[in-house]
Amino acid sequence: MPADRSAPAPDPILPPATIGILGGGQLGRMLGFAARAMGYRIRVLDPDAGCPAAAIADHVEVGSYRDVAAALRMAHGCSVITYELEHIDAALVEALAERLPVRPGLTPLKVTQDRLAERRFVEDNGVPVAPWREVAAGDDASLAQAAATLGTPLRLKAAFGGYDGRSQVRIATRDGLASAWSDLGRPQGEPTLVEQELAFVSELSVVCARALDGHTRPFPPASNRHAHGILAESVFPAQVPATVAAEAQAIAVHLANAMDLVGLLTVELFLLPGDRLVVNELAPRVHNSGHATIEASATSQFEQHIRAICGLGLGSTETLRPAAMVNLIGDGARRPARLRGISAATQDPAVHLHVYDKREVFEGRKMGHLTALGPDAATALARATAAQARLRWADDASTADGPESAA
Ligand code: ADP
Ligand code: MG
Repeated sequence: MPADRSAPAPDPILPPATIGILGGGQLGRMLGFAARAMGYRIRVLDPDAGCPAAAIADHVEVGSYRDVAAALRMAHGCSVITYELEHIDAALVEALAERLPVRPGLTPLKVTQDRLAERRFVEDNGVPVAPWREVAAGDDASLAQAAATLGTPLRLKAAFGGYDGRSQVRIATRDGLASAWSDLGRPQGEPTLVEQELAFVSELSVVCARALDGHTRPFPPASNRHAHGILAESVFPAQVPATVAAEAQAIAVHLANAMDLVGLLTVELFLLPGDRLVVNELAPRVHNSGHATIEASATSQFEQHIRAICGLGLGSTETLRPAAMVNLIGDGARRPARLRGISAATQDPAVHLHVYDKREVFEGRKMGHLTALGPDAATALARATAAQARLRWADDASTADGPESAA
């Protein structure tokens, strides 16, 4: 639908206005870099004063994502509020939304923080998802019945609070039903979703911007590989037929319009045999699979989000160069974060290093990422992977950059 030209457009939010960000992790940090480059000021709410976004914030308000008073203190002097994660108490966002614009918005947050509401929203808008059932945690009979209809393998997911493969378990066969609830570890009666595990050809994601006037601009899809539920690598743009790419983008545009959001919507999809697409998950925000846009695209996802939520024009999503991104994920016991091998990893001039400055590393924690550009996606991925192989997290507190430079 064309925007109603007769309605007065809300005033754009111009620098040096202040943007408030709920969440000061790596996404907040990179949003902040982009906003700062454009001349905006930043305030952040995060439980940790030393969060990754502290480096770019004018002020970090320390508080939980349920602390309405802290959120209101953070919002003081802000012109617009955004968020870098969905796991924020909706009441807190409601309190903010009464006072100033919250973008992408309250509805996108409520829909995407609840996997059941998200599934219903996608289906209600005519887009397929994996066959699923709602089950209350601990309800053995209903879970067995779902397994009888859906078959195995299954994925059992808590409705609230999951990310990076946490709060979900794989049920490989009917034998796995007995231990599923204890493996999931959620309180009795909590809402959960159980769904068919789909044998996908690949995972895709589309980051789509939607402006204040309803204008949309999707990036091309990325193709993603996960390990243990955590994104391991993304190839951008995905090497898929043009019809598949166009269909994935059309789904993202359709859902962004249906949600009436302002900012970014990321849609995670499974590509099934026969070029069929189903939606796995939505995120009303910048996304790990969009990091390659920093180097590969005319406009990064971070700049695009800031432009959208401030009511500016959207930037070009043209791809300048094929790229691949690999995550730097923590391993082992919790300890001070010291990355080794950086000199070796950066010998390849095509490789770009991003470190989130988290003070501690532990198993499965997202610590940074590498993006490599290349003449084609396969070359870019090979270069990013080769650089990644040279990096490791030190077990000790020495400051040398790896064994090769130790005296
Ligand atoms: P989150 O990203 O919030 O942890 P997801 O539901 O996206 O949760 O699951 C993480 C990953 O687990 C997916 O990207 C995919 O690799 C795998 N996965 C999840 N659900 C399914 C499914 N129904 N079929 C196949 N793989 C799945
Ligand atoms: Mg996901």
